[in-house]
Amino acid sequence: MSATGFENKPGHIWVNGKLIPWSENYDHILAHAMHYGISVFEGDRAYNGKIFKLEEHTSRLFNSAKILGMKIPYSEAEINQACIDTLEKQGFQNAYVRPFVWSGIGTELSITGANNPVNTLIAMWEWPSYYSPDELMQGIKLGYAKYRRPAPKTAPFEAKAAGLYVICTISKHEAEKRGFSDALMLDYQGNVAEATSANIFFVQNGELHTPIADSFLNGITRRTIIDLAKQSGIKVVERRIKPEQLGDFSECFLTGTAAEVTPVSQIEEHRYKPANVTLKLMNAYYELVGKT
Ligand code: PMP
Repeated sequence: MSATGFENKPGHIWVNGKLIPWSENYDHILAHAMHYGISVFEGDRAYNGKIFKLEEHTSRLFNSAKILGMKIPYSEAEINQACIDTLEKQGFQNAYVRPFVWSGIGTELSITGANNPVNTLIAMWEWPSYYSPDELMQGIKLGYAKYRRPAPKTAPFEAKAAGLYVICTISKHEAEKRGFSDALMLDYQGNVAEATSANIFFVQNGELHTPIADSFLNGITRRTIIDLAKQSGIKVVERRIKPEQLGDFSECFLTGTAAEVTPVSQIEEHRYKPANVTLKLMNAYYELVGKT
């Protein structure tokens, strides 16, 4: 049994339409998702009592479930309301929000789970910053991942499916063992793709350069930052970036709902310094989401 305490937090989790105590077990360990990976999730953030881009996150959740062949037995509006109700019940102003949809326990356990129930939960907890404030100001360090993002015909890259995180978690663990904060993943063709749970941006001569999101998640934060950059008159270039071009850039940062805008100071032997463009976009993002 785990002894981290995360399973015994106070408060409630919304499960299949009901708010149940956080520590109450819901499904059985022999649920289909535990064994065959049929589950999808979201990561939203609430700032000052409001969940940023809630509708967009919920629609991505429904699309992810559809891609994995699961029909969520609620409407998007019902899930949006459930997120709002759970936030209120938890009494949080600022929180990380984790909707999760999984293939449940069936009459037997085998690779097919087509007739198993589809369960939905919404949990939320206070998670101030993905990286420690110290790490954030100095910029985090990335090392190359052992695995590449699979080709679009090899895995459903548009789904935020738990199974796709296997290579991310392995890569992050290995990067941490080497003294890095996170791993930089390449795509199946060897281009720079993203970090293990965040998209990546670079600055070259005042322009913003970022990989084309056609084999990895086109993050909601990524799209927000592109819009903010354009509004601030910063040119945005979406293109293929080779590892050997990593020395061409002066600044680098990651974006994601959890990571927000996280400056990067190093990728393997390359060094970057958070400066004007990163700070400008970080502040614009905080202002937009209402982070105080
Ligand atoms: N890529 C991956 C693999 C992720 O897990 C995330 C976090 N959801 C992102 C990118 C960033 O997505 P978003 O900005 O929508 O949170």
